[in-house]
Amino acid sequence: MTATVIDGKAFAARVRDKVAVHVGRLKADHGITPGLAVVLVGEDPASQVYVRSKGKQTVEVGMKSVEHRLDEDTSEVDLLGLIDQLNNDPEIHGILVQLPLPRHLDEDLVINSISPAKDVDGFHISNVGLLGTGQKSMVPCTPLGCLMMLREHHGSLSGMDAVVIGRSNIVGKPMAQLLLGESCTVTIAHSRTKDLPDVVRRADIVVAAVGRPEMVPGDWIKPGATVIDVGINRLDAPEKGEGKTKLVGDVDYDSCAKVAGAITPVPGGVGPMTIACLLANTVTACCRANGLEEPEGLTV
Ligand code: NDP
Repeated sequence: MTATVIDGKAFAARVRDKVAVHVGRLKADHGITPGLAVVLVGEDPASQVYVRSKGKQTVEVGMKSVEHRLDEDTSEVDLLGLIDQLNNDPEIHGILVQLPLPRHLDEDLVINSISPAKDVDGFHISNVGLLGTGQKSMVPCTPLGCLMMLREHHGSLSGMDAVVIGRSNIVGKPMAQLLLGESCTVTIAHSRTKDLPDVVRRADIVVAAVGRPEMVPGDWIKPGATVIDVGINRLDAPEKGEGKTKLVGDVDYDSCAKVAGAITPVPGGVGPMTIACLLANTVTACCRANGLEEPEGLTV
């Protein structure tokens, strides 16, 4: 068997197109431009790349993008003051504080100071609780992107066995909640899970969010299963030339693709969907803030 490749890049482009259409309607019919504010504290190079990319894509779909770049030694009081200002700014519908924060800042305190209605990352404790109890919430972008791809590929996920490897607050746990919401039978595996290969072999859907390069081999995969690889790991690639690197996921793509029914590649799978879902969440937040109907297909 050779797996169908789930093309996250093409899917993300379709999501961005939908977002752009809705932004156009909001402007034309209501005179509203959705606005996304991104706050970056410090100089982390990977975070800088993400923030640039988010800003560029926000503008490309017609939304207002505001970036706040703060010094590494910004105090908690100053950061909370900025978030308060953004919470009260009617032109800002989504606020994202880029993680990780410098160590002197309390990440939970900062995230929970964002207005839940503007928490487009879906990390505020209120949104976590709403998702966990099956209520309307802001859904974390990466798991939302994974779910959109799974829904498109399968239609109904009801009754399927799903194994999520990883229990982080930003990927593993919300992913499991979303799959439960789709009536999957969900197992969350982690570093203490016994007999992980056997657990994974039971799954119709495997979501790997571990952060260990190519950890899941093909012989852990049930024939025909769908494999969603969230991992982004940068490895040295001397075969491509001196100093070159490459991105790999948490699953061993070549061996898994021989057994799986469908699989997301790295790069070009889950990664592009994350920013597309951030834009989708911003439009959703803007519609909710203005009491307008939410765009179909951009949230769960
Ligand atoms: P975390 O480090 O927060 O969590 C990793 C999880 O994997 C933990 O729950 C850990 O278990 C589990 N784990 C670690 N080792 C093993 C093992 N040997 N067997 C089973 N489980 C294990 O990572 P994140 O959730 O933040 O990210 C996971 C991956 O996804 C990373 O590669 C990250 O770069 C990528 N990512 C990609 C995004 C995208 O846009 N595509 C967005 C966010 C993340 P325990 O809890 O027991 O320690």
